[in-house]
Amino acid sequence: MTTVFERIINGDIPCHKIYEDDLVFAFLDIAPLSRGHTLVIPKEAVPYLHELSESSGAALGKALVKISTAVVKATGAAAYNVLQNNGKDAHQEVDHVHFHIIPKYTNKGLSLDWAPEELDAGEDLATKIAQHLM
Ligand code: AMP
Repeated sequence: MTTVFERIINGDIPCHKIYEDDLVFAFLDIAPLSRGHTLVIPKEAVPYLHELSESSGAALGKALVKISTAVVKATGAAAYNVLQNNGKDAHQEVDHVHFHIIPKYTNKGLSLDWAPEELDAGEDLATKIAQHLM
């Protein structure tokens, strides 16, 4: 099914466009958490980060640095979060990979409920994950 982000890339619905190259598109979030809240998306239409091609991933990494720099310069924000949600349980609403760049100002921006736990060193999860690297 076509998502709202594919329709934005195709020019079927309007957006506040910031950037476009062969693989990447960026625009302002329509419901910003703070001034300058930007979405950076691949043109490749897949829901999850782990489904992206290597070329789209590389292009996104490059664009994120470029666009974050521009957001910082344009807004004057001294701090910002880059957020990328995968799956409904992780607060993903639009099923097309997207990175949020969210400037942080006093009382404005991303709020985090971060509850760290102790690492289970017995499981050797690092080795388990490394074995699945391609
Ligand atoms: P997420 O919860 O990570 O899936 O975030 C989806 C984001 O897309 C939200 O912050 C929405 O405000 C934003 N969004 C949805 N529709 C549009 C649109 N037409 N133009 C710009 N941003 C949008």
